[in-house]
Amino acid sequence: MASERDRTTGFYHQTLETLSPVGREKFLSEELRKIVIHACQNAPAIQKKFASVGLKPGDVRSVKDLEKLPITHKHELASLQKEDPPFGGFLGVPMQRLKRICMSPGPIYEPEDTESKNDRWTQAFFAAGFRKGDIGQVTFSYHLVPPAFWFEDALHRLGCIATPGGVGNTEQQVKMMHDLHVTGYIGTPSFLMAVAKKALEFGYDPRKDLALEVGFVSGEMLPESLRSELEETFGMVIRQGYGTADVGCMGFECYHKNGMHFPYNCIVEIVDPETGKQLGPGETGEIVTTVFDEAYPMIRFGTGDLSYYTDEPCACGRTSGRLVKILGRLDQVTKVKGMFIHPANVDEVAARFKEIKDCQVVVTREGHVDQMTFKVVLSEGITPSDDLAKQIESAIPQSMRVRGKVEFIERKSLPEKYSKIDDQRKWE
Ligand SMILES: [Zn+2]
Repeated sequence: MASERDRTTGFYHQTLETLSPVGREKFLSEELRKIVIHACQNAPAIQKKFASVGLKPGDVRSVKDLEKLPITHKHELASLQKEDPPFGGFLGVPMQRLKRICMSPGPIYEPEDTESKNDRWTQAFFAAGFRKGDIGQVTFSYHLVPPAFWFEDALHRLGCIATPGGVGNTEQQVKMMHDLHVTGYIGTPSFLMAVAKKALEFGYDPRKDLALEVGFVSGEMLPESLRSELEETFGMVIRQGYGTADVGCMGFECYHKNGMHFPYNCIVEIVDPETGKQLGPGETGEIVTTVFDEAYPMIRFGTGDLSYYTDEPCACGRTSGRLVKILGRLDQVTKVKGMFIHPANVDEVAARFKEIKDCQVVVTREGHVDQMTFKVVLSEGITPSDDLAKQIESAIPQSMRVRGKVEFIERKSLPEKYSKIDDQRKWE
């Protein structure tokens, strides 16, 4: 019973989602100036952060100026809050103005403002294809942590109805989806898979007996193969978003699913983890975010996640940059010839060649120069050749921005369990 809603085009906030680069810079810098003044007046932790580098609020006037400020890392928040409970000095409004306080592992407490203008998840839901009148089943946890509440808010802002499924209770959840003709799914990809299984057990045809048309998933990796399997099973469109409990939404896919657009109302920097300087398109670094949230004004919040972005135009018409891919955690990176490489980069190279069965990158140092060797185990029936080595060698810099040499090896020369990057450099 497919509805006639157009889920593939349009914007939640057309003007702000389609700004020119100059217009966006102007908009973001204005918002930044406002939140910096507010935060420095009201949040002692931000005051301290400015004072630690001898800056005044007026010194941070543009996105580029953010580089002057230190990054507050996610892993520091728990101890900062412990020292100065409950919010570590980051609360920017009187306590009475809060509507909700959640708790994430750490513990870290996250305050939420009654007067919040934060519609970043709403942009994400619109881009995913949610429209007024949808019934969206929220299958994230309603206990302690914030996402389920955020996603309900996003549904309400779009004029949708929420069904609070929460975690587990798959039978009741499938029944609810069936009986209420739920059109939207909000949850993890793996729970949607569980829904499909349970529906089949009930004798339902997921395409005909359930009304799901649109899904927003988060919290887990979404391999393309899993996405297509789920989309096929339910006859629905599934898009994903990226965020953390501390700062909320930082990226979301549109219908064209070619990376995750930055919401119009936050600043996402990709930053060199060693220098804190902003990196350009295609360069891998830490995702660092500044949000314009008066209650919890995180300014230069370091997620510890690694990614790179593109500013190529997107067919949807949104003009913001896009996170191409979340590569993994910062603590897994290795620096080679000045570039950060991550196990996910190694997998990316391997994925381009069906001839590659296993591989490992070995980093060594010869005469004060880093050397990268790509050890390749070939699939059955493939014989090593110079030609193949050359092809792989030319693919390596595309994913890793560093050149490397290919060496073909037997599987048995690698241990049973091995790490994707073996850093053998000695620094004494
Ligand atoms: Zn797009």
